[in-house]
Amino acid sequence: MEKRISGHTKLYGLIGSPVGHSGSPAMYNYSFARTGVDAAYLAFDIPLDQLESGVNALKTLGVAGFNVTMPDKTAITGLLDEISPAAKLIGACNTVTVDENGKLTGHNTDGIGFIRNLSEHGVTVEGKRIVLLGAGGAATAIAVQAALDGAAELSIFNGADGFYANAELTVKKLEEAVPGCKTSIARLDDEKALETAVSACDILINATRVGMKPLDGESLIPARLLRKEMAVADTVYNPKKTKLILDAEQAGCRAAVGGSGMLLWQGVEAFRLFTGKEMPAQEVLEQFFA
Ligand code: NAP
Repeated sequence: MEKRISGHTKLYGLIGSPVGHSGSPAMYNYSFARTGVDAAYLAFDIPLDQLESGVNALKTLGVAGFNVTMPDKTAITGLLDEISPAAKLIGACNTVTVDENGKLTGHNTDGIGFIRNLSEHGVTVEGKRIVLLGAGGAATAIAVQAALDGAAELSIFNGADGFYANAELTVKKLEEAVPGCKTSIARLDDEKALETAVSACDILINATRVGMKPLDGESLIPARLLRKEMAVADTVYNPKKTKLILDAEQAGCRAAVGGSGMLLWQGVEAFRLFTGKEMPAQEVLEQFFA
């Protein structure tokens, strides 16, 4: 490190709270070194009530770009000069680029990362009927990106409270912005509607917390509904294989895709936005996601 850092070294970072557990500094610093980019990446614990002063501090220090994690992903949109069309539809940013004039542009690479992970497993969304479980941050990013990438049908299911209203808003926004994608929202406890949608879908996606601790060992979809012709994907990456993914493997589904690839590929896209270079994805996968 002492050989790499100089007076010219650019600084990138992650903001959010907490950030101490994040694997991003290791992943980006490794990639800077491997691609010959003179930069370093640090994590900054910036809670929501300090977001504005935190962003001003990053501007003053001339930070070259930063990632944003919870709880700052939505509020950051109000502090930027420009927002990408997808991030505007999602209503949240996880990546902010800074140009030579100090202009801050917000992006959201979560949906891009999820779709890229699917395509790495031979699954494309164009023309497909998708069932999406969940309506929070990850689900919204996936919904918007799938619609923008040409999905034919998007059936969202969520509990009646919590993020349900968020899903209604997403459906409304997508009806206007991407009318070619037939989008709907229904309650997760409407078992008949869920069974009908899952029985007719090409891709089933879990973007809820079900499957991760303390809900590990649980799945929202009865195993009997899983068919060989469908692809199944989870956003949960810890455990690597959720009950849903294990059930999909058992059922012989054409793909059973866990969530760690989403984490990798959203980082690859952010690295490209920051540096214009390709992160050494295979190496990063082996080093940090094995
Ligand atoms: P979030 O914004 O808090 O949304 C949570 C979602 O999970 C909501 O739709 C919520 O439904 C649902 N949910 C929670 N407990 C549930 C239960 N017991 N039964 C049914 N639904 C339940 O969280 P998020 O950031 O979108 O994260 C969602 C999942 O995506 C998490 O598992 C997270 O690990 C994963 N994720 C993965 C990546 C990656 O890179 N792989 C990135 C981001 C997130 P209600 O509205 O009914 O509460």
